[in-house]
Amino acid sequence: MTERLCLVHYHEIGLKGKNRSTFENQLVSNLHRALRDRGVSNIGRISGYIVVETEDRRASEELAALIRRVPGVARVSLAYKCGLDEGEYVAAAITALGEAGEFETFKVHARRSSTTYELHTLDMNRLVGAALCEAFPDKKVDVHHPDVTVIVHAVQGSTYVYAASAPGVGGLPVGTAGKVVSLLSSGFDSPVATWMVGRRGAICVPVHFSGRPMTADTSEWLCQDLCDALAPSGVVGRLYVVPFGERQREISLAVPQGMRIIMYRRVMLQVAERIARLEGAKALVTGESLGQVASQTLENIAAVNEAVTMPVLRPLIGSDKQEIIARAHEIGTYDLCCQTAPDCCTLFMPRRPETHARMPEVLAAWESFDHEAMVEELVDRAEWRDYAQCPSYRAPKGRLSAHHRDLAPADAGER
Ligand code: ATP
Ligand code: MG
Repeated sequence: MTERLCLVHYHEIGLKGKNRSTFENQLVSNLHRALRDRGVSNIGRISGYIVVETEDRRASEELAALIRRVPGVARVSLAYKCGLDEGEYVAAAITALGEAGEFETFKVHARRSSTTYELHTLDMNRLVGAALCEAFPDKKVDVHHPDVTVIVHAVQGSTYVYAASAPGVGGLPVGTAGKVVSLLSSGFDSPVATWMVGRRGAICVPVHFSGRPMTADTSEWLCQDLCDALAPSGVVGRLYVVPFGERQREISLAVPQGMRIIMYRRVMLQVAERIARLEGAKALVTGESLGQVASQTLENIAAVNEAVTMPVLRPLIGSDKQEIIARAHEIGTYDLCCQTAPDCCTLFMPRRPETHARMPEVLAAWESFDHEAMVEELVDRAEWRDYAQCPSYRAPKGRLSAHHRDLAPADAGER
C-alpha cells in the first residue's frame, strides 16, 4: 500500500547558509515535541523537506493542521510516498488530484533530486499528465496558471506525490533566536505580541501581574488558558505570575494620581527585566500599539521605558486593533480575551491618568516610594508554571527555585 505522510516545506531556513542544519535540527526537534502522542513513527529530512511519517502510514489532515502551527513551517502537503515504479506513482497522482478539492485546470510538475532514476522529468510529466487527462476527462491542462499542480518528486529511490498543500505559520523554529520575557495581560494585544516574537524563533517566557490579593485570581487563570492556547506552537517555555495588588495600593497612596499608571508600569517592567536576567533572556516584549489607549503615547512609552536598560520589543506598535484581532482569531486567543477579568490594570486606577508625562515629574514620583525593595520583593514572590511543548526552554538555576510555588499543582510538573 502506498504510504501517506506529511511533507513539511520551509523556505526561510534554507536561506541561512551555514546555520541551515542547526535550524533544520531545531525544527525537527520542535516537531517531535509538538507531535508526541500523535502516532508519529519518524521525522526525517529529505532534499529540502522534512517528512513526518505515522505508525499507521496514513497521515491525517488533523496531523497536518498541528504541523502548520509550528513556527518555521512554510507549508505542509499531504503526500503519497511510492517507489520508482511508474504504475505506482501514476496511481498516486490520480488519488492526489482526486483529493485536491474544487478545480478546473491542472498541471504536472515532475522533479528529480539525488536519484539514479533514469526517466527524464519531461517524460515523467508526459506520463503522469496523460494518465490524469484520462482519469479526469472534464478537466483541462493549463501549464501557466493551473488551479492545482500535481508534484511528482523522485528522491533517493522513492517518489513523493502531492497536489494539495496548505500554508503554515512561517517564521523560524523556536529556540533559534534566544529567549524573551513578555508582559502578558489578559487583553487582546499581549498574547498576539508574544506569539509574533515566538514565531520569529524566540522562546517566550510570559510574566503576568495580577491584582491578587486585592482582586480575585481570575486573570491568572485566564493567562494560563492563554498560554495553553499558545503552547501547541511551542513558543511558551514558562509563565510567571506576580501578585501585585498590595504593592499597587502602596504606590497609589504614595504618588500623584496622574502618575499611578506610569509607576505601576515602571515597576512591572523592572520586575520583568529582573526575571529576564535570571532567565538569561535578552529582551522584553509588550503588546503596546501607538496611541491605542491614553497610556500609549510616545511620552508615556518613553517614561516607562526609561526604567529599564534591556531592549523592549513592541511588535504591535504600528498595528491597528482590527489587525490584532484578526491575528488573535488565527492563533486561538480571541475567545479567551473576550472574557473580562480584573487584573492589576483595573485596580487603583486614577480618574485622570497622565497622557503626556514629563520626565522630571516621573522621576520625582519614582523617588517617592521604595521601588528597589518593592521590585526585589515582587521578584521573590513570582509563581510559575512550565510548558513541556517548548523543548528548548531551560529553567534558570539559582534563587528563583527557592521560592517556587506552583500555580496549578494539578497539572504542573509535566517537565
Ligand atoms: P493588552 O491588550 O495586551 O492588555 P492594552 O491595549 O490593554 O494591551 P495596556 O493595558 O496599556 O494596553 O498594556 C500595555 C502593555 O503592558 C500590554 O500589552 C502588556 O504587554 C503590558 N501589561 C499590561 N497589563 C499587564 C499585566 N497585568 N501583566 C503583565 N503585563 C501587562
Ligand atoms: Mg490591557
